[in-house]
Amino acid sequence: MNNETIMKMGQEYVMNTYLRQPFALVRGQGSYVWDADGNKYLDMVSGIAVNNVGHCHPKVVEAIQKQAQELLHCSNLYWIEPQVQLAKMITDHSCGTKVFFCNSGAEANEGAIKLARKWASKKYGSGRYEIITALHSFHGRTLTALTATGQEKYQKGFEPLTPGFKYVPYNDLEAMTMAITPQTCAILLEPLQGEGGVYAATPEYMTGVKKLCEEHGLLLMFDEVQTGLGRTGKLFGYEHYGIEPDVFTLAKGLGGGVPIGAVVAKGEAAETFSPGEHASTFGGNPLATAAAIAALSAIIDEKMPQQAFEKGQYITEKFLALKEVHSCIQDVRGLGLLVGMELSFEAKPVQDYCLKKGIIINTVQNKVVRLVPPLNIPYEDIDKCIAVIAESLKVIEEGRAWKGQ
Ligand code: PMP
Repeated sequence: MNNETIMKMGQEYVMNTYLRQPFALVRGQGSYVWDADGNKYLDMVSGIAVNNVGHCHPKVVEAIQKQAQELLHCSNLYWIEPQVQLAKMITDHSCGTKVFFCNSGAEANEGAIKLARKWASKKYGSGRYEIITALHSFHGRTLTALTATGQEKYQKGFEPLTPGFKYVPYNDLEAMTMAITPQTCAILLEPLQGEGGVYAATPEYMTGVKKLCEEHGLLLMFDEVQTGLGRTGKLFGYEHYGIEPDVFTLAKGLGGGVPIGAVVAKGEAAETFSPGEHASTFGGNPLATAAAIAALSAIIDEKMPQQAFEKGQYITEKFLALKEVHSCIQDVRGLGLLVGMELSFEAKPVQDYCLKKGIIINTVQNKVVRLVPPLNIPYEDIDKCIAVIAESLKVIEEGRAWKGQ
């Protein structure tokens, strides 16, 4: 099928939840993808922070093929070898001591929220159920994950939402202090708000929040769905801050392109659940965990956090140089290969221009260009992307000047 046929069928049979580009991607390799008409694109978005190891990383493909011949799915009523291996690997490389596996970021956050409430009910008895999250946060689209999400646009029309959530401005320690009540059981934060516009937490905020959690006996939970697995220049985002969360969630980059999510917890929090208290049929299935072992091995063996750090700095420097000549660039920010460039106008025309030139970029919060390429992207591809973005800014600025805007 070609792009047109696939699009027409999709419009007829697939629910209309996404604003999609008019083409279908059918193949991927490294930092490139191809559509059904054979057009090639440089993917600076990696399926939105999913393909950290690049599209169809050979180790991931091999692991999937091997596992697919052995066993695709069994059940969590039995032990699963790649699942226990992956759990060990994650805890060996993080502050966590035990892992619960599920299938997506939203499901991981649901699991973390349930863990926090169950933990509080076992530790303190009933009445401590409140969870504080940040304004402009993003935690997923299931009903409780979207309740945790501090953006009304995702919640409208889905009321009544899950009770027991409170939202505070991000990076505001005083507001966080004021929000804690005797009912609070946990704080859930992203180390860097990706969907919220690429804003990293400040070190003072993170250490302050950690202290508040200790003082009030709360669980500190980080949503590392977008920031985890090397994306920010460290294996996990919290490593930038010299503090450890009690719980953190993973998804996106964990499976190297295969759906998998995880709730990672340490110490007492990791011992919260008893048999029957939480579950997921496909969670930690052999295929997804075999893929994740390969993806995580590639991230570690190929030093991808370091690559993300260096390439992130490179992009940031190039963007800052562009800022000198393009007054429309208001700000350049981010961590590692999660880079945001805020413009004085809507960033969509930049995205459209890049797409016409065969480069996929992404925008968040209307005015922010977000780059989240594979962590092993070659420098020449980065240069190609930056040259086209620069060209687009020039063309757009000239057009605006011509129109007197
Ligand atoms: N948390 C964060 C920080 C995210 O960026 C996302 C996805 N953009 C999610 C949760 C939800 O993940 P999923 O789409 O896999 O449910």
